[in-house]
Amino acid sequence: MRIFSGIQPTGRKHLGNHIGAVRGYLEGQERGDPAIYCIVDLHAVTVAYDPSSLRSFVLDTLAMLMASGLDPDRSILFRQSDVHEHTELCWLLSSVTAHGDLNRMTQFKEKSASQRELASAGLFLYPVLQAADVLAYRAHEVPVGDDQRQHVELMRDIAERFNAAFGDVLVVPEHRIPTVGARIMDLQVPGNKMSTTGSEERGLIFVDEEEKSIVKKVKSAVTDSGSEVRRSPDKPGITNLIDILAVIRGAAPEDVEREFEGQGYGAFKGAVAEAVVDYLRPVRERYAELRPDERALESVLGGGADRARAIASETLADVRHAMGVGPPA
Ligand code: ATP
Ligand code: MG
Repeated sequence: MRIFSGIQPTGRKHLGNHIGAVRGYLEGQERGDPAIYCIVDLHAVTVAYDPSSLRSFVLDTLAMLMASGLDPDRSILFRQSDVHEHTELCWLLSSVTAHGDLNRMTQFKEKSASQRELASAGLFLYPVLQAADVLAYRAHEVPVGDDQRQHVELMRDIAERFNAAFGDVLVVPEHRIPTVGARIMDLQVPGNKMSTTGSEERGLIFVDEEEKSIVKKVKSAVTDSGSEVRRSPDKPGITNLIDILAVIRGAAPEDVEREFEGQGYGAFKGAVAEAVVDYLRPVRERYAELRPDERALESVLGGGADRARAIASETLADVRHAMGVGPPA
């Protein structure tokens, strides 16, 4: 079972990334042969960004993953731009990707609409590069949050179309999306997912956030004017907090509803805040230890890239051969 997933170094990562994705990475570390996790800096340049921060965001993201329990001796942890096979494969796969499919991608529509200066072609091709990331490793499984369901569907189509056209070279991957917590919502705009680049600070809980600030943000999370702690489409704020508490406790959302029956939002939010603080505390503490040693972090990325390249270059050789690209093998 080969497992692959990627995470963007676009800023401080949040509780949604942790609950929706990183927990799946940790579970994958137990089963993956190998589990491969990539910090996708080439995806990060598809929206407006600050070049002087990108390298340090990569290290922040790596330190966060390691603080959460990913172990570079067990999983392959690397930086996307260190393995050139991804970009070459992206180009080759673009020949079996339908323009119309890319145009339909929800993430493309949302992100291109929210760009102030430039909706880049990179944003349009984002899912093809993502397909290349996964397909280069012939991964069977892709742990992601719910927002990436559509992109994994697309990469399956791309792999199938490639295999139909050029022979059975690529593995068609499957997503692995958690049943609860796959879409953590913005605390201030509970109709939108919590997003590294799209949310305002008050709507996010950062993985390395100070405890006091977590409590404040949870207590001021937007909820409806009712008082029942119950999930419902017209109560997106409360539903989100119920999901968060359920995931952290390893309980069903129904259990959370039952526990807080007859209690007001105040008591409930207090319990959620405390649970989130306890959940993130060990990660924040370990992060503070790991993040300062940049040489050690770079060395993890270097070692990871060597291991990743060894796998990806084999796939690329097969793809080039099948497509008639380059000199004969
Ligand atoms: P952006 O909104 O700028 O794309 P992001 O917050 O989605 O940033 P990514 O690095 O793109 O962060 O996503 C990393 C992983 O986290 C992906 O698997 C994604 O599905 C998951 N994820 C992102 N946001 C959430 C969320 N709100 N709830 C659950 N999972 C999420
Ligand atoms: Mg995203």
